[in-house]
This record gives sequence, structure tokens and C-alpha cells, in this order.
Amino acid sequence: MVDADQTFVIVGGGLAGAKAAETLRAEGFTGRVILICDERDHPYERPPLSKGYLLGKEERDSVFVHEPAWYARNDIELHLGQTVDAVDRTAKTVRFGEDGTVVRYDKLLLATGAEPRRLDIPGTDLAGVHHLRRLSHAERLKGVLAALGRDNGHIVIAGAGWIGLEVAAAAREYGAEVTVVEPEPTPLYGALGPELGNLFAELHREHGVRFHFGARLTEIVGQDGVVLAARTDDGEEHPAHDVLAAVGAAPRIALAEAAGLEIAERAHGGGVMVDERLRTSDPDIYAAGDVASFHHALFDTRLRVEHWANALNGGPAAARAMLGRDLTYDRVPYFFSDQYDMGMEYSGWAPPGTYDEVVIRGDAGKREFIAFWVKENRVLAGMNVNVWDVTEPIQQLIRNKAPVDTEALANPHVPLDSLAS
Ligand SMILES: Cc1cc2nc3c(=O)[nH]c(=O)nc-3n(C[C@H](O)[C@H](O)[C@H](O)COP(=O)(O)OP(=O)(O)OC[C@H]3O[C@@H](n4cnc5c(N)ncnc54)[C@H](O)[C@@H]3O)c2cc1C
Repeated sequence: MVDADQTFVIVGGGLAGAKAAETLRAEGFTGRVILICDERDHPYERPPLSKGYLLGKEERDSVFVHEPAWYARNDIELHLGQTVDAVDRTAKTVRFGEDGTVVRYDKLLLATGAEPRRLDIPGTDLAGVHHLRRLSHAERLKGVLAALGRDNGHIVIAGAGWIGLEVAAAAREYGAEVTVVEPEPTPLYGALGPELGNLFAELHREHGVRFHFGARLTEIVGQDGVVLAARTDDGEEHPAHDVLAAVGAAPRIALAEAAGLEIAERAHGGGVMVDERLRTSDPDIYAAGDVASFHHALFDTRLRVEHWANALNGGPAAARAMLGRDLTYDRVPYFFSDQYDMGMEYSGWAPPGTYDEVVIRGDAGKREFIAFWVKENRVLAGMNVNVWDVTEPIQQLIRNKAPVDTEALANPHVPLDSLAS
């Protein structure tokens, strides 16, 4: 039984951590809630950093999860700009900040998120080499893109994943020259496979983005600290004033690892292993958001989901579990993206090798359609592109795991609800 004398500590003030704190109070927890984050900004949402905020269409204030006064009002002890550097599982304490403050916890939530992977090549220390994870990164990149647009400058983006493509779109809107270098044959290969990746390549080409597929950056060439070009492993050299490394993110597991918690295999995305209640191998420690790796019963595999919705729902689920509520965290992974005038939502999980066909419903040429990734007539994932209000039936089809008639699935005149019921 949870009582008012208890202390719940949350490490990491991203969306998962902030939503967990909110849920603890909403569920009536009256004990201490301590939220510690190494960033100086109040908890914020990251999707606008590569979209509206980067484009100057959304205000800085709009990205925060709660207004600053909310934390004091809800008696959340917020420690910003402080890193937790140790968890002592025997004493049940965490240590944080430069003065090594130690606090005791009854329950601990690790919501430490992920960090950008680095390019391990010469030249990454040049001033014009960027990453995009934090608000401060987005602020800087915004200035860089605006200047490139003004001066006809050129940015090379390493990686045609979601962030690489969204920044490519923003850069084009600013008027910068853009080259995207990607080792796979199409954009978003690992997430969508080749069939749908080409659609994104076409969209970006129409907006003037150049792609260099099947190649990796090997060196960023510079002079006097300034980027001049980016070289690839096939001997090409792309002129560049700036380079963005958008080559994925790694879960921030150092704290969990040092504390001896079980860590998932890299092949499964790494991350802190949790059960269906988001509990780690220590029953008093939970993990949620980008850092957590959980077994998903629907796909019968261990997943680490780096999506906004997983932080939004996983943080609260972990909070409820910390309060002893009975639950199973088995939400269908969900993701959204906006590039130029194309908006999309993706539900499910179907990387290459897991599906045997992609069924298209609607007009892919007009970029108004739903794609379904299907294995043995069962829907594993669905992506709606410029078609809205269909997430529920798509997720229901995935949850059903029942065989569907793929001709009916492809036919826009057959209501999706009738297939999902
Ligand atoms: C540019 C960008 C665009 C994105 N766009 C989309 C999108 O369109 N759609 C979508 O679904 N998802 C998107 N995502 C992904 C989504 O933002 C993440 O899934 C989400 O932020 C994960 O939240 P989190 O709370 O788990 O982790 P995070 O947001 O990473 O927060 C973790 C926090 O913990 C802090 N921390 C880590 N270790 C410590 C420590 N030891 N001590 C103290 N603090 C620590 C970190 O600095 C960070 O502030 C995007 C991500 C980025 C970077």
C-alpha cells in the first residue's frame, strides 16, 4: 500500500517523466515526487523541434509539457540542470547534482530517454556539425538553416530517417541546398521497407532535395574550423557549409547499467528491460519512454519504441504501476510525421523481413492513401498518408490479428470499420 510518507523519484524530465509526475498527482499520490533532469529547460515535447518550431511557425512556449508554475502548484520537486550519476539499489538512493545530493526513494522511475548517435569519422568536431535532440540544438539549427537559405548555402544530412527527412523539408523551406546521404537504398528503410520509402524520396526530390543512397559519410572536410565538404565511402565529395548527423538515437542506459539492472540485447534496440508493468529487474525501479525495452505480446518480440506516444502513455502507465495498480502496457506503437504538405501517421511494427506484402488503399500517386503491411493476411502495421481519423480502425485491425481479405483491405469503398470489427 502506498502512503503519504513515500518518496517517488523520477530521473529524466522529458515527456515520459513529466507525464508520470502528472499522473502520480492525478491518481491521488500525496507523498514526495522528485523530478530530476540534466536539461535546464522545463520538460518539453521534441516533435516540434524538427517541424513547427524549427520552421519558426510554433512559438518556443508551445513546446513545454506544463507551464513552469505547474510544478510548484502540484508539489513536484523539480531539479533542472542536474544529472543523476548513481543509483544505489541497496540503500534505495539516487545521487545528483554537482554537490552530490543524495535522496532516498521508495519507487524510482528511469525516464532517461535517448541521445543522438554520433558519426565516428574525422571532422565531427567542426563547428558546422550538428545533432538534433534538444531545444538548444533546434534553436541553433533554426539560425543555421535561415542563414543557409539567405546565402544559398548547402547542408549535408547524414541519415534519411524521420529526423533527417523532416530537417531536409525544413531546410528546403528556408531555401537551403540539401543533400541527404543514406547507406540504405531508400529513405526510412528500417521503419517502412523499400516499397513506401520511395514515395518519400519522390516527395523530397520534387522539393529539390538530392539523395545519395548506398553510401556513408567517411569524412567531414574543413578549414579553420569551418565545414567545406562531406566525403562518402564511394569517393564522392559533397559541398557543405553545415552537416547534420541524423543517424539514430541510443537509449541512455548508463545509469541503469551501472546499477546492475538487466539491459536488452542491442539486436532488440537495447534499452532497460521491463516487464508488462514497466518494472525493471528491480521491483522498485520502473522505466518508460525511449529508454525502456518491453516484450510486446502483439508482435511477440521485445521492442524499444522511440515515439512520442510511447512517452505520453508509457510515463502515466509506469506511474500507475508504481502506485500498485494492475495493468498491462501493450499499446500499439504509434508515430506521426509532417513533411511539406504531407502528413502521416503510422501504427504498428513491421520492419523489413517481418511482412510479406504491402497493400495500398487509395491513391499513392496523389499521396492520399493508407498502406498496410501484411503477413499471411494479417495486418501488422498501417500508415495513413493525408487521410485522417482512421487510427482507431487501423489499430483494431492490428490488435485483432485475424486474417483479412486483402482485396477488401485495398478497396476504399469497403469501410475499414467493417474489416476491423
Ligand atoms: C527532433 C525530434 C523530433 C521527433 N519527432 C517525433 C514525431 O514527429 N513523432 C513521434 O512520435 N516522435 C518523435 N520524436 C521522438 C519523441 O520525441 C521521443 O520518443 C520522446 O521525446 C521520448 O521521450 P522520453 O521522455 O522517453 O525521453 P526524452 O525526451 O529523451 O527525455 C529524457 C530526459 O532525461 C534526461 N536525462 C537523461 N539521463 C539523465 C540523468 N542521468 N540525469 C538527469 N537527466 C537525465 C535527458 O536529458 C532528457 O531531458 C522526435 C524526437 C526528436 C529528437
